[in-house]
Amino acid sequence: MPSTVALLGIALMSCVMSAAVLGSLLRANVRGVPRWCAAYGIFSVAILLVLVGPRVPLWLGLSVAHCLFLFASLLILEGVREFFGRPRASAIEYAASVAVYLAVLYFIYVKPSPDDSVVVSSAYFAYVRAAIGWAALRYRPPQRPKYSYYFLAIAAFAGALLHVARSIAYGVGWNHQVVFLDPSPLNIAFLGLGILSFPFLSIAMVMLAHDRLAERMERLATIDELTGTLIRRAFMERAEASVAAAHASGAPLALAIVDLDNFKAVNDRYGHAAGDRALVHFASTVSRSLRPGDLFGRLGGEEFALLFPATREAQALQLTNSLRAAIAARPCGQTPYTFSAGVDEFGAGDTLARVLARADAALYTAKALGRDCVVVASSDGASNERLEQLG
Ligand code: GH3
Ligand code: MG
Ligand code: MG
Repeated sequence: MPSTVALLGIALMSCVMSAAVLGSLLRANVRGVPRWCAAYGIFSVAILLVLVGPRVPLWLGLSVAHCLFLFASLLILEGVREFFGRPRASAIEYAASVAVYLAVLYFIYVKPSPDDSVVVSSAYFAYVRAAIGWAALRYRPPQRPKYSYYFLAIAAFAGALLHVARSIAYGVGWNHQVVFLDPSPLNIAFLGLGILSFPFLSIAMVMLAHDRLAERMERLATIDELTGTLIRRAFMERAEASVAAAHASGAPLALAIVDLDNFKAVNDRYGHAAGDRALVHFASTVSRSLRPGDLFGRLGGEEFALLFPATREAQALQLTNSLRAAIAARPCGQTPYTFSAGVDEFGAGDTLARVLARADAALYTAKALGRDCVVVASSDGASNERLEQLG
């Protein structure tokens, strides 16, 4: 049978390692990580105090250690909520933490009872772990892989169950300790399992931080920094997938290429920063007007593309014109601008490149017609003919 000292030694090493691993993520600037790292550092100090308990004054080995355990647990919960962008803790939770600590002090100094102290503190730890598990399930970003969030929830709920069992076991008198953490079989079992919950929780936190970093990298690789739209490559990849799906299902698919008018002159007249603001205004106005499933990407500079699944050319024309109306209705402050667009629909066997070329030709027609308009490219090449006539 391992002694409580050996188990606490293992717990100490595991907490120090967790603090070190979480510390390596501090520079990644992920919300919650500093609190988690601090919590594991504090757990390490608290365990060390319990280990040296018999050789140091009671207030240090027991009262301070308990305070640190309660505080570090709360820090982990705060960190999890912070990670999800939620308020860290409520006033009731802070008040309950103080009340639990006062109760623990009461059972140390006023009416010494290690059993009652365990009942109260384990109930508190159970609540904190359940709240962590709940936050992981409730605020999990739906578009991210579930694995790390479920891992955290399972680790937290398992820890909560363990503490509920520990609290009940001492509350109803199944276990009894004369001194804090005496080596009774049940105490050893609770301690052994409780110690496992430390690395499980910290591994889950590292997974969460890595998922946040992966999300950032994916965003950098797919989203245009200025406008928040898809970058050209990401748009093309997704558009190719939509084209394949439309060909497979026989559903219609339409595309528009949009180019802001005389944008060089806009920059020259209002300045590059105002030009940037106009691009942001354009992207946010369009994004707000899109239907679920529509794709929107920046092909480069002031040129954008829109892909409309399950949409015929006539409806795509209407949608693109409604974007023009939306921008005219809510212009960009002191930097007015317009756009021209070319719209086309995919025919049987059409490739993305071919439709892009036809929509581009229609866009040039729109420019030649005086800008601030949308031109539809007929699949028979009428717009090219019109271009030639205009040229
Ligand atoms: P047209 O109506 O024929 O499209 O005329 P245009 O002036 O818009 O076309 P042109 O291709 O000559 O100029 C595009 C301008 O868009 C030039 C470039 O400075 C500006 N531009 C491209 N990207 C950005 C950007 O990120 N920010 C700003 N402010 N301007 C940009
Ligand atoms: Mg332009
Ligand atoms: Mg252009």
